[in-house]
Amino acid sequence: MNLDNFQVCDRDLSDDLLSRYLGVNSIAVDTETMGLIPGRDRLCLIQLCDPSGFVTAIRVFRGQTEAPNLKKVMEDERIEKVFHFARFDVAQLSHTFAIATQPIFCTKIASKLARTYTSSHGLKSLVQELEGIELDKTAQSSDWGNAANLTPKQLSYAANDVRYLLSVRDKLIMMLQREERWELAQKCFSCIPIFTALDLQQYKDIFEH
Ligand code: MN
Repeated sequence: MNLDNFQVCDRDLSDDLLSRYLGVNSIAVDTETMGLIPGRDRLCLIQLCDPSGFVTAIRVFRGQTEAPNLKKVMEDERIEKVFHFARFDVAQLSHTFAIATQPIFCTKIASKLARTYTSSHGLKSLVQELEGIELDKTAQSSDWGNAANLTPKQLSYAANDVRYLLSVRDKLIMMLQREERWELAQKCFSCIPIFTALDLQQYKDIFEH
C-alpha cells in the first residue's frame, strides 16, 4: 500500500489532521467493528479519505467514548460525508461518540436508485463496475478488536474501502441525474439519521403494514 498517502492515528484525529479535513468539501468514511449490532459490537476503526486520496485510519480503543476532533468534522455541515451503507456507520458513530453525522451521501442507496439493472449493490460490485477495480474483501470478517496490532493486510483492506468512494459517488450522481432520480436520492439521504435513530432503539419495520 502507498504509505505516503496513509496515516494511522489513535483515538481521534490529530489537530493537524483536523485542519486538513476541515478544509475539504467531501470525505469518504467507513468503519470496522466487532460485528453488526451497535451496542453489542464495538467500533474498532474509522477510515477517512479526502478528495486527494489521503487516507486516515483512527484506531478506537475499548471503553473510549469521545473523539472531539472527529466529531467536528462529522458534524460540519459544509463537508459531505460519503459512506457505503451509511445507515450502519452513522449508527455506530452516534452510539459510540454521540456524533450526529451530516450531511450524508450513501453510495448503496444511490446504487439501488440508479442501477436498477442489477441486484448487486455491494461495494465490491460497485467498485468493479464503475472503477474497473477488483477489491480484495478477504480481511472483511477479521478480528478488528486488537486495535494496537492490526495487520498490514487489515489496514490496507480498510484503506481501500474508502479510497474509491468519492469517485463512485461522482459516477452515481451522473447516472441519477440522467435518470432524473437525483432529487429522490437526496431526499433518501436526508432520512438516514431517522432510520439510524430507529435502529439504535431496536425498532423494526415501523413503516410496514
Ligand atoms: Mn469496511
